[in-house]
Formats: sequence, structure tokens, C-alpha cells
Amino acid sequence: MEYPTRNHPSSFHQQTIVYPVISRRSRGVSIGINVSPTKQCTFGCIYCQIHVARTKNAEELAVLSPMIDLERLRRELLATVGSATSGRLFEDERFRATLPEFRRLNDFAFSGDGEPTLAPQFPEVVDILRSIRRELALPQVKLILITNSTTLREERTIAGCDALTAENGEIWAKLDGGTEADYLTMNRSKVPFSTILENLRFASRRWPVKLQTMLLRLRGQAPDSRWIDHYCAAVRHILSAGGTFRSIQLYTVARVPADSCCTPLDDGEMDAYAATIAEKTSLPTEVFYSK
Ligand code: SF4
Repeated sequence: MEYPTRNHPSSFHQQTIVYPVISRRSRGVSIGINVSPTKQCTFGCIYCQIHVARTKNAEELAVLSPMIDLERLRRELLATVGSATSGRLFEDERFRATLPEFRRLNDFAFSGDGEPTLAPQFPEVVDILRSIRRELALPQVKLILITNSTTLREERTIAGCDALTAENGEIWAKLDGGTEADYLTMNRSKVPFSTILENLRFASRRWPVKLQTMLLRLRGQAPDSRWIDHYCAAVRHILSAGGTFRSIQLYTVARVPADSCCTPLDDGEMDAYAATIAEKTSLPTEVFYSK
């Protein structure tokens, strides 16, 4: 599940699994964990760069193993944490301009080149993150799963999410429309929309969940009132079934999208949508602009 506001490659120097980014959302250093070497995903979002790479390099990716080297993950994570907490990270040219208040380690986030819960080792990787967090005495560091919401009721995902949320963990789960048609337009998936809604209801009753929603201009058209009404009705439907969300994160296109028909909304439009959605769902909204 691609991190929507990270305008960074999911690699760092010689590292292939762990990569630091300065996250506007976290207001600090977020250490991304890329558990998707084959870029596997159950969505083909119209705004996703990774989806483009997946399609272009399908043959090459088909022969790769979905397994990652867990020892390597450990080594890379220890090195990256050491670099961030000692301040060495900010000597690197990519991080030199980091504002003083952002020079703090905020989280380890499952993100990267695909849907992380599809990774065969997802629960094992959660265990490694938990053990490093404990070993290095980093109780303030959050564990974040960024997911497209398609597997949230599957056994392995439940096991991983139970472990992750037992230690300052949070799930950021995607909902990009309020009807089957709107969802299919944005996410191009074989997973039925009803499954996404049921997964979100289940997850939000069990774990701390923030919703993530992409708002964009599609072939020149911003979301209209019908789109927003259906979206808010879908959120209210989950809430009325006992779900609860910490907030709704609204973001727009921040990098070259998969499909050139997607363009970003401007800051004023995002603010207006955020106000309407907050009013219609009674949930707090957080806005992430295109720049
Ligand atoms: S969920 Fe969408 S944005 Fe995330 S990796 Fe899959 S296709 Fe890309």
C-alpha cells in the first residue's frame, strides 16, 4: 500500500527493505518497511505509480520471490533507527533540510511497493518491529500499517494486526468511494465493495483505525455532491454498525499518477471537502495537500 504523501523511493542507499522518510503526516521521521518485493497488490488504483511499474515489469516481477530476508530487515532497521536517533541521518543530503521539529523518530510504517498484508511474512515482520522497539527502548515509536482494506478479516492479517496494535499500533485503511461504481473507478479491484465495507466495520471495532481517502480531479471533474454524499453515507453505515474511526485522512495526488486523467485538487478545494465530510460524518478530518 503506497504511502500517499511520501514523495520518496521505497529504498535508501544500499537498503532494500527499510527506508526513512520525513513524513508531513507524522511530523517526524517515519521508517518505512517495504515487504512487497514483487509489488503485489489487490488494487490497481488509477493514481498509483507502483501499479504502473507493476504492469510494465510484469514478467520480471513474476519470477521474483515474495519472501524477504528477515535478518536483513533486522540489520537495516537497526541501522536506520541508529542513524535517525543519533542525528547522522540529517547529514545525508536528502535529509539536510529537515526542520528541527521534524528531527524525531515517530514511527515504523508498513508501506512501500504493494499491499503489505499480502506479504507471506507479514506477522513475522510485525514481531521483528515489536522486538526492536522493545530492545531499543522506543515506547514512543508507533507501529503503523497502511493498507488497502482488502484482507482485514483474513486470519494472518488479524494475527498481525492484533500484535501490532498491542504495542502503540494503528491501522490506516483505504476507502476511496461510497458506491461500488465509485470504488471500482478509483481502485480497479476484483474484491467486492461490500467486502471492503465489512472489513472496515470489523477492523474499526477491533483496532484503532484511521480512514484514508483520495480526492482528485478525474478527467477535469472534482468529486461532486453525489460522490461526497455516497461516500459519507458509506462511512455512516460503518459507524451505525458499531465501527469507529479516529479520523479521516484526506489526501490528493502528490506525484505523477498512474493515469494522466488524475490531477490534484487545490488546497481550498481540499479544505472545503474536509469541512463537508467532517460535518456529514461527525468525524475529525485531516488534510494532506498536493505540495
Ligand atoms: S493500494 Fe492502490 S495505491 Fe496502494 S499499492 Fe495498491 S494500487 Fe498502489
